[in-house]
Amino acid sequence: MTNLTRRQVLLGGTAIAAASMITGIPKTPLTPRMKFMRDSLAADIPRPDYIVRLSANENPYGPSRVALKAIYENMHLTNRYLTDPRPLMDTVAELNGVTQDHVVVGTGSGEILATVGMLTGMRGGSVVCADPTYQSLLRYADLAGVEIIRVPVDEGLKADLDGMRRALRDDTSLVYLVNPNNPIPNVIDGQPMREFVLEMAEDHLVFVDEAYHEYVEDPSYQSMIPLIAEGHKNIVVSRTASKIYGLAGLRVGFGFAHPDMIREMRWRKTGQNTILGIEAAHASFLDDEFPKFSLRKNRESKEIVYQMCEELGLRYVKSNTNFTFIRTGMDNDGFQEKMQEYGILTGRNFPPFNNEWSRISMSKPEEMEYFVQVYKQLFS
Ligand code: PLP
Repeated sequence: MTNLTRRQVLLGGTAIAAASMITGIPKTPLTPRMKFMRDSLAADIPRPDYIVRLSANENPYGPSRVALKAIYENMHLTNRYLTDPRPLMDTVAELNGVTQDHVVVGTGSGEILATVGMLTGMRGGSVVCADPTYQSLLRYADLAGVEIIRVPVDEGLKADLDGMRRALRDDTSLVYLVNPNNPIPNVIDGQPMREFVLEMAEDHLVFVDEAYHEYVEDPSYQSMIPLIAEGHKNIVVSRTASKIYGLAGLRVGFGFAHPDMIREMRWRKTGQNTILGIEAAHASFLDDEFPKFSLRKNRESKEIVYQMCEELGLRYVKSNTNFTFIRTGMDNDGFQEKMQEYGILTGRNFPPFNNEWSRISMSKPEEMEYFVQVYKQLFS
């Protein structure tokens, strides 16, 4: 074990001990002395010897042990271009109630977004989306000369479906929705979402990006893959192995659509998956322990940040993803810079919210305790 790792382990122990003492206290009212003890305990979390990444919505625990085993077992095959992806496609299709003909594998769901962005560019017209939202598909469509019509989220920070209906133009060829959204991690209620997608799909291609599907806990949420299983055309849904499965660096994602659309996407896409990515993803999708564990830890981390926001009276968004969005009230460039001085990377700017809001990805609970300590030291 290296020094660094030993220190990381120690950090975890200290932070967890501090966290359990802190959470034990609020049941009885705090005396000034107890408050002092709590604050000094909280201030005791040492700065990690590594950068705490709260910036890219990664899973701090991934890859799982089963994924690592698959990687080791297939390492000697990396002289080959690609293993057969069909067993993975079968598994993913079966898990989602469709056939393999409804699935395309990409180098991350980013490749699926880019492919559809380029296809939209070839068709021309305009794209309607919520604002703010994830940019990848929009950037490709924009570069290909398509106009992007951004519809601001409503006052509750949710995608404004009626506003999007009103924004449609005769030349609109694609409607793009991210559900749960990013950087604002809320969901659109299932029934209105289903109705909206079916209505839009009558005359437009509808792309639903479900990168954070596995983190959703809101009971009103519905995935749109069942619409594809029902045979509807004009709907594409993307998913990824990057988030809850912890494989962001191995680049595996999926598109689901009608077989005609899948054929076109397979034909147009430019990436090549690797043996390691395909095998690690396949092993990961056959294992439900690791996603459950990741979800539980993610929930713990979110609670730590929510509690800080409650204490400090900061507005925040209850999250259905592995990040949250908090109203720091500060210019985000300055906020990022300050946090970096303490070894913490936070979310980039998301116009028009960069003057007051910051996206904070969840890492391990002990790292979120450290974030809270730094935030309080600097800003409360
Ligand atoms: N879609 C959304 C909403 C995301 O937030 C991300 C990554 O952060 C992606 C897609 C791309 O993920 P990947 O290409 O790793 O599958």
